[in-house]
Amino acid sequence: MSASELTLLWLKLAADNHLMRHRDHLPNRLDFSNHAALFLHTHNRSLDGAELGFPIVLREGRLWFPEELAVQSRYSAFVDGGRFVGRFHVHPPNPNGFSAPFFDPQDLACALRSDNPGFVELLLARGRLFVMVRSNPFLYIAGHHVDRNPMLLADQHAEIIRRLGSKEPSDPGYDEHYRKAGMYYFRRYGLALYEGDPRGPLERVFTPEAGW
Ligand SMILES: [Zn+2]
Repeated sequence: MSASELTLLWLKLAADNHLMRHRDHLPNRLDFSNHAALFLHTHNRSLDGAELGFPIVLREGRLWFPEELAVQSRYSAFVDGGRFVGRFHVHPPNPNGFSAPFFDPQDLACALRSDNPGFVELLLARGRLFVMVRSNPFLYIAGHHVDRNPMLLADQHAEIIRRLGSKEPSDPGYDEHYRKAGMYYFRRYGLALYEGDPRGPLERVFTPEAGW
């Protein structure tokens, strides 16, 4: 089996059974390289800094990306005739300012919503493809908290960046500190992280602790 076939198999198993998302069952690599052209195209046509994206659906045994559907913060378990497993979106260069190099506080709050039926979040930023896996189904943020305040995590996230020593996006360590602030939530909420060039397999670079 190729790496992309194994990825598809794991996604199907994990959609059926949350135990397959447990750290002990996470694949070492995930491969979405079959879809790299679509991901890169979405990134490149996002000229004005718009965070374009779409839902990721398992349909008829394969991954399906209903591109006509703009990325939303919330989906039901079935989308466009298939099973919703997560979202893909891009952080393109922003001509008017900062473009987050990693999952931002809104992405994290959205992914962690209690009513999110998905378990993967794909992000293409600065030429890297990141995949967040909700490995622990028992750690989440109540959906109504996120509805009331989508910026729920923003103040704390900014405070972590400040404590690490950065103030402005122009500071030399800012990108690294931004990512470290995001990783705080990966540890806290039992999220796994995969990362790499979208045209190849992605390595698992962070595995949550055995919490359940
Ligand atoms: Zn984002």
